Amino acid sequence: MRLRFDPSVETVRDEFRDWLGANRPAPAEMAADPALSTGHAPDWMRRWTRRMFDAGWLVPGWPPELGGRNAGPVETFVVLEELARARVPRTSNVQGLGIVAPSIVDYGTPEQVRDHAMPILRGEATACLGMSEPGAGSDLASLSTRAVLEGDPGSGEWVIDGQKVWTSGANYADFCFLFCRTEPDAPKHRGISILLVPMDTPGVTVRPLPEIVHPGEPDLNEVFLDSVRVPAANLVGRRGDGWAMANGSLAHERGMVWVNAVMGLEEALEQLVAQAPALLAGMEPAERALAADEIVRIAVDTQAARCLGQRGFAKLARGGSAPEQALMKWYASDCRQQVARVGADVLGAGSLESGGVPNDGHLAVDEPRGTWMEQYFHSFANTISAGTSEIQRNIVAEKVLGLPRG
Ligand SMILES: Cc1cc2nc3c(=O)[nH]c(=O)nc-3n(C[C@H](O)[C@H](O)[C@H](O)COP(=O)(O)OP(=O)(O)OC[C@H]3O[C@@H](n4cnc5c(N)ncnc54)[C@H](O)[C@@H]3O)c2cc1C
Repeated sequence: MRLRFDPSVETVRDEFRDWLGANRPAPAEMAADPALSTGHAPDWMRRWTRRMFDAGWLVPGWPPELGGRNAGPVETFVVLEELARARVPRTSNVQGLGIVAPSIVDYGTPEQVRDHAMPILRGEATACLGMSEPGAGSDLASLSTRAVLEGDPGSGEWVIDGQKVWTSGANYADFCFLFCRTEPDAPKHRGISILLVPMDTPGVTVRPLPEIVHPGEPDLNEVFLDSVRVPAANLVGRRGDGWAMANGSLAHERGMVWVNAVMGLEEALEQLVAQAPALLAGMEPAERALAADEIVRIAVDTQAARCLGQRGFAKLARGGSAPEQALMKWYASDCRQQVARVGADVLGAGSLESGGVPNDGHLAVDEPRGTWMEQYFHSFANTISAGTSEIQRNIVAEKVLGLPRG
C-alpha cells in the first residue's frame, strides 16, 4: 500500500517548499547563534518568525492577519513536515507560539491580542508559561500562588505573591502567562485565573535551574513573585475560569505536537542506523546480534509511532475523535528515550563524546540533542513536561479504555 495526500495538498507542499528554499535562514547563521533557552530568540530567529508570519506560513490554519492563510489541518501538517525535513524550526519560543499566543487569541481581549499575542506571532516578544509550583505539578489545581484585586475590575491592580518552578524560558521571556488562585474560597478547580505578567515587573525574581545536560544554558527556572502588581486589565478570560482555559491551552500543545516528536525520533533513528554498521562491525557476534535486534526493534517502534500519529490525525481531520492522540505524547517520548538508550548502549563510553543530533539551531532547546548520552539524559525531560507519562497512562485508562479510577 502506498499512502499519499491529495494532489491539492501536494500543491501546497510544493509551494511551501519553493518558498522555504528561497527564504529560509542559512544553516551557518543558525548554527552560529542557536537559541539559549525557549524564551530566547536570536536575531535570525526573530527575522525568520516575522518572515513566516508575513507570508502566511507561521500558523497556516489561522487567517492572514494572525500569520496564516486559512489552510486546513492536512495542509498545516505538510508545512510542519517540510519544516522538519528542511531542519528549520518555526520559533525557539515553543510555549509562546504553541500555547500562549493561541490561548490569548481564544480567550483574551482585543487589546491583549494586540499587545501580547501579536508580538509573539511577529517574532518581537517571547512568553513563558507559569503553571507548575513546588506543590502543584500533575495536580495543577492545587496551585497556591495568590492574586488579590485591589480596586475595581476596570482600573485596579492585581497583587501577586507566590512561586513557580520548572518555568521554561523564564530567564529570557518578555512576559509570563501566569496561573494564580484568585478565589480562595471557591472549590480548587474553580478558583484559578490567568494573568499576563511582564517579566520586568518589580517583585519578579527568576532563578535558573541548571540541568545535567548543557548546564551553561539553563532553560528551566524558578520564578518568585513578591507583591507583584499588574493592571486589572491583564486578566485573561473570565475570573476563576483558569482551569477550563488550562485544559484548552494544553490541548493546543497536544494537537500536533506529535508531528515534531515523531520527526525528532526519526532523525535520531536515522543517525543511529547510519552509524550502526561501523559500530556493529567491532562487536563479538553474540553482542552484535543483540545490538542489531535492539536497533531493529526501535526502528519498528518509530514506524509504529508515525502510523499511530497519522491514523489519529486522519480521524481528527475528518471531524471524528481519535483515541490515538491520547497515546502519542507518552508513546513518542518513550520511543525517543529508547533510541537514545540504544545509541548509548551500543556506543558504551563513546556515547559520552559522540552522537548524531547536532546543536545547530535546527531543534528547539527542549528537544534532546548532542551526544547519545546527552540525548538519553535529556529524554527524561520529555516524558515529564506537558503531563508525565504516568498521567498520560491514567488518561488513556480512564478516558479511552473506560477503566475505573484507581
Ligand atoms: C523539561 C520540562 C519543562 C517544563 N516546562 C514547564 C513550563 O514551562 N511551565 C510549567 O508550568 N511547568 C513546566 N514543567 C513542569 C511539568 O509540567 C511538571 O514537572 C509535571 O507536570 C509534573 O509535575 P511535578 O514535577 O510536580 O511532579 P508530580 O506531579 O509531583 O509527580 C511526581 C511523580 O508522581 C507521578 N504521579 C503524580 N500524580 C500521579 C497520579 N495521579 N497517578 C500516577 N502517577 C502520578 C508523576 O508521574 C511523577 O512521576 C516542565 C517540566 C519539565 C521536565
